Amino acid sequence: MSVIEKPKLAFWSDAEELECVSFLPEAPNVMTFCFQSVSGALFSYDPGQFLTLELPVPGGPLYRTYTISSSPSRPTSLTVTVKAQAGSVGTRWMLDHLRPGMRIRAKGPAGSFSLVNHPANKYLFISAGSGITPMMSMTTYLYDAGRDPDIVFVNCARRPSEIIFRERLEHSASRINGISLKWVVEEEDSYKPWTGYLGTFNQLMLGLMAQDYLEREVFCCGPEPFMQAVREVLVGLGYDMERYHQESFHAPTIDVEDVPDDVVPDEESKAVIAFTASGITANCTQTDTVLAAARTAGLVIPSGCSMGICGTCKVRKTQGQVHMVHNGGITDDDIEEGYTNSK
Ligand SMILES: Cc1cc2nc3c(=O)[nH]c(=O)nc-3n(C[C@H](O)[C@H](O)[C@H](O)COP(=O)(O)OP(=O)(O)OC[C@H]3O[C@@H](n4cnc5c(N)ncnc54)[C@H](O)[C@@H]3O)c2cc1C
Repeated sequence: MSVIEKPKLAFWSDAEELECVSFLPEAPNVMTFCFQSVSGALFSYDPGQFLTLELPVPGGPLYRTYTISSSPSRPTSLTVTVKAQAGSVGTRWMLDHLRPGMRIRAKGPAGSFSLVNHPANKYLFISAGSGITPMMSMTTYLYDAGRDPDIVFVNCARRPSEIIFRERLEHSASRINGISLKWVVEEEDSYKPWTGYLGTFNQLMLGLMAQDYLEREVFCCGPEPFMQAVREVLVGLGYDMERYHQESFHAPTIDVEDVPDDVVPDEESKAVIAFTASGITANCTQTDTVLAAARTAGLVIPSGCSMGICGTCKVRKTQGQVHMVHNGGITDDDIEEGYTNSK
């Protein structure tokens, strides 16, 4: 579809491939990829939700989950902003090979980390690194609504040159009063003056950034140690953690006390699992995941994050008992319909 064509008023569903239409380098090893639907269908999602992309890397597809960094208020295209860490396979493939004209499959949108689920008058968005993506989507969404929002937007990066979306956010903040940007960097760039915060996010900084932090709904996203530091700051200041929401891009550290004790799978107990679509039956133990049992039996169940967040690996249970532990990657409706996470 050409950008000047009037879009059809149908909404995209993940049955249709996405076409990459452009890409933009944002920071070192960070790129934004823009997609449109091939049919011209519009995109509908909650700001802050994610997609899982099927990346055709050599040797078989890899599934990787990325927050949609664009806003549903601009529904003719959709962007993801990806950061490749050292040793990355999937994201690195995107940086090196995904180019305009290529089509890829995607699952979603999914996820509940969105201000639409926690409406408030005042927000405090705190992010680090690529954790800025859901905050970008939510800020654009509020900006596009045309009313002056009340957002204190905190982003932490190693150095100023690594802050993702800095210019775009500064441009938005220059046009309305209600976006207050607070950059925190660990070190300055050589030969460039820096007027933002220097160091790591702490209680003192929060007090200076938003004196009314107790009145704000907090959304936080970044590496787990960062989010833990933010939680400790907030708890230490007496913040009501019912109003704190976070999205993890990586497996959460499991606290033994958090593991439900209603069912305790036994490593010694044998179980049998039948995969109805392929007709294959396999032996496993109670502690094996459905995904692991499928892999051992030579079957491929598409899977992404391996931690129950993205929901790529959900399969329908036709019979029997499966003990499911997930991190939001499966909805109550999915569970009602008989789906279970296979990770
Ligand atoms: C809800 C959600 C939203 C997300 N949103 C974003 C987003 O907006 N932007 C973004 O950039 N990311 C996002 N992520 C993270 C993203 O999904 C990927 O997990 C991340 O980019 C890593 O994937 P990769 O392909 O880059 O690296 P991978 O190839 O998966 O590698 C990850 C790390 O593991 C190591 N590794 C790889 N293979 C092996 C191996 N065989 N043995 C040992 N170590 C290995 C590598 O050194 C690397 O450091 C999100 C994740 C979730 C769950």
